[in-house]
Amino acid sequence: MFTINENYLKLPGSYLFSDIAKKIAAYQQENPEKEIIRLGIGDVTQPLAPVIIQALHSAVEEMAHGETFHGYAPDKGYGFLREAIAKNDFQDRGCRIDADEIFVSDGAKCDSGNIQEILALNNKIAVCDPVYPVYVDTNVMAGRTGGYNPKTQNFDGMIYMPCTAQNGFVPEFPKETPDVLYLCFPNNPTGAAVTKAQLQEWVDYANRNGILIIYDAAYEAYITQEEVPHSIYECEGAQTCAIELRSFSKNAGFTGVRLGYTVVPKELKSGEISLNALWARRHGTKYNGAPYIVQKAGAAVYTEEGKAQVKEQVAYYMRNAHAIYNGLKKAGYTVSGGVNAPYVWLKTPGNTTSWDFFDQLLKTANVVGTPGSGFGAHGEGYFRLSAFGTYENTLEAIDRITKM
Ligand code: PLP
Repeated sequence: MFTINENYLKLPGSYLFSDIAKKIAAYQQENPEKEIIRLGIGDVTQPLAPVIIQALHSAVEEMAHGETFHGYAPDKGYGFLREAIAKNDFQDRGCRIDADEIFVSDGAKCDSGNIQEILALNNKIAVCDPVYPVYVDTNVMAGRTGGYNPKTQNFDGMIYMPCTAQNGFVPEFPKETPDVLYLCFPNNPTGAAVTKAQLQEWVDYANRNGILIIYDAAYEAYITQEEVPHSIYECEGAQTCAIELRSFSKNAGFTGVRLGYTVVPKELKSGEISLNALWARRHGTKYNGAPYIVQKAGAAVYTEEGKAQVKEQVAYYMRNAHAIYNGLKKAGYTVSGGVNAPYVWLKTPGNTTSWDFFDQLLKTANVVGTPGSGFGAHGEGYFRLSAFGTYENTLEAIDRITKM
């Protein structure tokens, strides 16, 4: 008789965003006349930039003719895209990353979930708290943790690094030394960023202790401050301790198109074993590549026109972020984030819990955000607002919240 992977049973309840969706649906059913503004989920709202649409159209046309048709893509992705990534995202920033260290995929969510497959089950994992839930849940599914403790809202055996107002939402080195640690900067959900000097300390710590850093830079395009690094490979020595995850979702609006990539440097080794070779083996065995059409669209992002158009889109969302940040601050809220990230992290007023604030916001202002406690125990008492709405809706939402 078959048996299941019982690690899945350790995961509590349903996914954060389905809980939110249920609450909205129930409220909307009771109040069909109310116009709800959603600043909750981190999905983009602007259409794809014209140069990306052109690239999609012309790639579709290529697929219509025998001489230009494309079947299975190369395992690691097309050379034209990997070369453009290596040059624009890394070499032009002074990072020593080559095209054969880039693995194209259908997005950073899958990669951040899949990457742990090449690591042994006895690795001790450290994550930030609050955290993008995928890092935690995928390690639970694999069996790297004990059970869930509802009291602490932690999984036994997982190391949590609190990100609080006191540390500026940038964690300190954990008391217990992990084997693998996940970092995400600019951060989802807090919107916090690290300086290059701060990140260098993490790289040095990892190299000193034989730790692998899985660095999620999905929000890199939103960095506005000089001192904030766009890639972990801007730090000396990162090649020997870090894997970096990137996404086309937030910089170019590919949330529905699906494209991302993972960087696994050749110098990154466990003893004599190259992680680049392991990930290549995993990628080649379990994945058949992002579609040609989508990779062509991705390459368009790196053309001069493409760069200008996506920059404009990022600026559009950042205008929203500033409106949220400044509007709430003026109204007396304690806010952070929103400077190098499309998320504003606000302290709920008084002793209001994150979910009570969610309900209050939904019912009084008809605005949806994300309760901080959904991202971990240290997110309690906080709330995330996303800048991915339209400008008009964002202004209206802030107006409603500040009048609440
Ligand atoms: N990493 C972080 C930190 C995210 O917040 C998200 C999406 O919200 C992703 C990865 C997922 O990116 P993708 O759309 O490329 O799967």
